[in-house]
Amino acid sequence: MADYQTMLRQLPAVDRLLNEPATIHGTSGLPRRIVKEAVQEIIDNYRLFITEHQNEADKLASLDLSVNRLAERAANLAKKKAFSGFKPVINATGVVIHTNLGRAPLPHAAASAMEAAALNFNNLELNLDTGKRGSRQDHLEELICELTGAEAAAVFNNNAAAVFIVLNTLAKDGEVVVSRGELVEIGGSFRIPDIMAASGAALVEVGTTNKTYLKDYERVLNEQTRALLKVHTSNFQMVGFTAAASTGELAKLAHERGLPLIEDLGSGVLLDTAKYGLPLEPQVKESLLAGVDLVTFSGDKMLGGPQAGLVVGRKALIEKIKANQLARVIRVDKLSIAALLATLKLYYDEKRALSEIPVWRMLTFSKGYLGERAQSLKQKLAPVFGAENITLLPGISRVGGGAMPNAELPTMLVEIRVDSCRITAASLAARARQAEVPVIMRLKQQNLILDPRTIFAEQDDQLVESLQKAYNC
Ligand SMILES: *Cc1c(COP(=O)(O)O)cnc(C)c1O
Repeated sequence: MADYQTMLRQLPAVDRLLNEPATIHGTSGLPRRIVKEAVQEIIDNYRLFITEHQNEADKLASLDLSVNRLAERAANLAKKKAFSGFKPVINATGVVIHTNLGRAPLPHAAASAMEAAALNFNNLELNLDTGKRGSRQDHLEELICELTGAEAAAVFNNNAAAVFIVLNTLAKDGEVVVSRGELVEIGGSFRIPDIMAASGAALVEVGTTNKTYLKDYERVLNEQTRALLKVHTSNFQMVGFTAAASTGELAKLAHERGLPLIEDLGSGVLLDTAKYGLPLEPQVKESLLAGVDLVTFSGDKMLGGPQAGLVVGRKALIEKIKANQLARVIRVDKLSIAALLATLKLYYDEKRALSEIPVWRMLTFSKGYLGERAQSLKQKLAPVFGAENITLLPGISRVGGGAMPNAELPTMLVEIRVDSCRITAASLAARARQAEVPVIMRLKQQNLILDPRTIFAEQDDQLVESLQKAYNC
């Protein structure tokens, strides 16, 4: 039995491993720097393993120190390093609009439109009727107005940018009044007070955290006031002793003083959620009907399209916003325009919107369908984990994306008990995240939880493969 120091001396030098045929063949075309890094890492790992297990003869004996074996490992690691990064994952969390997982998956129509826009020249800023220069905004405006009842519309990079440009255009160097109960932070970085500061508008907070009355707004209005702002507190809900001025009341007050009322809706819903058994979420057109002058919302939350920030409302205000020099800094790109246009077109026919926009399809799955999907997943996973370790049980999915924080969507969960001595549920979940197609799941003690609501049926086989590899490696 070789002692551990002899084994350490047996480990090849970096250059030797780099020049080994298995390394060279396995890494052709990869950047030298990455290959070198991988080779170094493999040697370090072996050195660490040998040192840590120096008193465990059986462990050391089972170690294959052949240069060829190390080279294979180094090549695999180099490939992993070179091709890792941004890629599709399977969302088994049941959170439909998951900001960490890229928010809304696009409808097929939007993906095709994006591809066509990507591979070809297009009339992004050419008016085909006149042959003269056109505006990229023109392609979307009519459709957005049609769907929301707005007079005019403009689209920017995302909703944070939309809020920024609205405030910068209408309230730079002036004051904007907002309720203390609406000073929200969304997703860790979008903070209304910070965005306002960056836009050059001074924030005037009114009311208290839980109660703000119309008279609180009235009291602070002065000649510096440029607008009233209402923010949809989309990612939390206040319960108990609360009061807020209604949109109608605020609009009346604003208009009496010749001021615009702005509303940041966040999610921006174009369908009547209550009709589909979902909690009430304010629709864009309802805000406009209630008298809001400008409404902003995201393209990739409940709209179900690409990242974008939409501003809809009064034509005179939208024209000013479009003319702001900073609009160029946050302009929407051609691929997003293509995807947004294709997504919005689906809303012409509500049935198509519900069946072809993944966000809406997932939000409106029937209990029966989710039950069948859970059953089918159980069957497919049984050969890996054993049918006796898989249980179906009723549970809850979430809307996510800062919409409907308290909404509980009933679902059927697939619960996998990981009682093997090989691995804990937590390390299995970690390995599943490292799979070629990663699977993102919830954990409950020694159980993995899969929610069929957010797993595309076409991904089932891939899901099983990723979990199997994670379990067996
Ligand atoms: C999500 C959200 C935003 C930020 O939108 P992005 O499109 O992510 O920039 C702003 N305001 C509210 C109320 C939101 O919910």
